[in-house]
Order: sequence, then C-alpha cells, then structure tokens
Amino acid sequence: MLKQYRQMRKKLPKPVQTWLTKAPYTFSVLPRVAQDPPKAQRTFPGSARGALLFSADFELAWAYRYSKTCNDPLGMAQRTRDNFPALLKLFETYDIPVTWATVGHLFLRSCNRVDHDWMRRIPHFDDHWRFTSGDWFDHDPGTDWKRDPHWYAPDLLEAIFASPVDHEIGCHSFSHMDFSDRNCPPEVADDEIKACVETAREWGIELKSMVFPGGTYGNVEILKKHGFTNYRRKSQCVLHYPYIDEMGLVVSPSKGLGDNEFGWSHDYMIKNLCSHIDKAIKTRTCVHFWFHPDIDSWFLATIMPSLLRYAASRRESGDLWIATMADCADYMLKKD
Ligand SMILES: [Zn+2]
Ligand SMILES: [Zn+2]
Repeated sequence: MLKQYRQMRKKLPKPVQTWLTKAPYTFSVLPRVAQDPPKAQRTFPGSARGALLFSADFELAWAYRYSKTCNDPLGMAQRTRDNFPALLKLFETYDIPVTWATVGHLFLRSCNRVDHDWMRRIPHFDDHWRFTSGDWFDHDPGTDWKRDPHWYAPDLLEAIFASPVDHEIGCHSFSHMDFSDRNCPPEVADDEIKACVETAREWGIELKSMVFPGGTYGNVEILKKHGFTNYRRKSQCVLHYPYIDEMGLVVSPSKGLGDNEFGWSHDYMIKNLCSHIDKAIKTRTCVHFWFHPDIDSWFLATIMPSLLRYAASRRESGDLWIATMADCADYMLKKD
C-alpha cells in the first residue's frame, strides 16, 4: 500500500510531491510514536523528558564491497577520511557524544591475509549485497594503514580518543558482514564478533553496542554471548522508548540522516529534524539519529551544525538527555 502510494506520488508535479512529503509532519502523523510502555514509565535520568542518541556507521571501504548500487568503495572511504576532522570538531563544539559503530578490521594497523583464515566464511548469497563468487576477504589488501588507508583506520580511532568528548566505540561486525539469520550461520557471526572483541580489547575497549551492517538483523544470541548490552534496529516508529528484547538486550530504533530525497529546503530540513527532538521530549521517547561519516558535505556543513546546536540547547534547559548507545542501555537495564 505504502509502496503503491510512493510510486503514485512520483508521477505528480514536483511542488505537489514536496508538499505531500511534508504534510504528514505538518499534521503530526510523522514521526510516528511507539505507544509502549505507558507514558508514566518512560523516564530518563534527571529532569529529562526525552533522549537523543547519535550513532555513526564507521566502515570505510568495507561497506561497499558487494554493493549493488555503489561501485566506488575507495572513493566513499576517502569521503569519510575527508569529513572526519570536521565531524569530530562539530561534535566537540557542542559536546555531543557519538557511538562510532566501527568495522573491526579498522582497528588493525596492518594484517596479512592469512590472519583471517581462522574465521569461518559466510556462504555465497545474493540479497541486499551480491556475494556470489570468491572469498569474503578477497578485497582485503593484507598490507598496512599507511599503504591502504581505506581498509584500516587506527589513525582515525586515535583522533576519536583524542577528542575531549566522551564518545563510545561500538561494533559494526569485523568485515561488514550480513548478520541476518537467513544468510549468516551462527558460527560465522560468532567468529566476526570474537574477532571484534579481541581486536578492540587490544585498544582497551570493551564493546557493548552493535549496529548491524546493511540494515540486516539477526544472530542476537551471539551478541548476548559476547557481553553486548544493546543494538540499533529499524522500526516503523522513529520515536520510541528504548525497549528490552527477549534476549535481555536493549533496542533503540533509529532514523538515518543525510538524504534529501524529497528536495526539501535546508531551512525546512533543519526545522523538521529539530521537531523530532521536540516531539521526543513531548512524548517522553528517544530519537536515535544515525549517519555515515561519508555523509554529503552539504549536510555536514549546512544541516548538522544547526541540529547539534538545537540539541545542545534543549539539553541545556534540562529537557533532553543526550547519551551514547551504551549509556542508554545501562540506564534502561538498571532502572527496573
Ligand atoms: Zn585483513
Ligand atoms: Zn555499514
């Protein structure tokens, strides 16, 4: 039904299309709010009535290897590297923490291809990505971060640690793996997470938060086994009080940033995103914004500063709690 409506909308004149994409917000149909649990139980630390999380899928070239839509993994990785200083500076200006969901291979300073031979391989599949021949690690250069900075990122991790903001390092699998139960056998997921946990430990990091690659979802019991407390997941309702799943992990639904598929003006885009924060406060829910660090430069330069400034001002007035995914999960697990 929704798909048919979207197809129909595309045939209308552009100004009508734009108006139609704004109307659900004007009439407060969107962003949708999850009704569970009852409002009185939706509490946050201190006087805050709403919460805001930011997570970034930090992956460099790994994300685009088997993509059906992007044929320039190195170009996308370079965009992340180009954006990185500005991104860190921006979040520092407003003292807003980010959960950097990091591909485990990026922790490495160097590797040999054979280093990953112990990891069991995902069978070939054709789904969200097309991996129908060769070995999963065929793209791995097996060199070091200076020679191949699009496959390793110890320097960027050090830049995150050097920031005075209390950022979190989360997990985005070791090699940007499809984590769905359909495509990924549990032993493959287990090896991916084991590799992440061990590599992160060498940096003194304990991983608690998972962002599944490519919008996939599954193998949650493996996360539980390795001590994770929470993960991000898509939902029909963008505004959601974080909930605890049947495995005892905290789930926070999210909204992606960076697209302007409806051709909105910059002013309207800022107003719309800030209104997500207002509505989260009003409904005692959480808004979890996520983005790719290779985000379009117009979004980084034009939208993000206004959004962060507004978020910081709502925090200043005591209405909004801004947290990392792990801090949010800690609060949810301890509060009952
Ligand atoms: Zn490697
Ligand atoms: Zn990703």
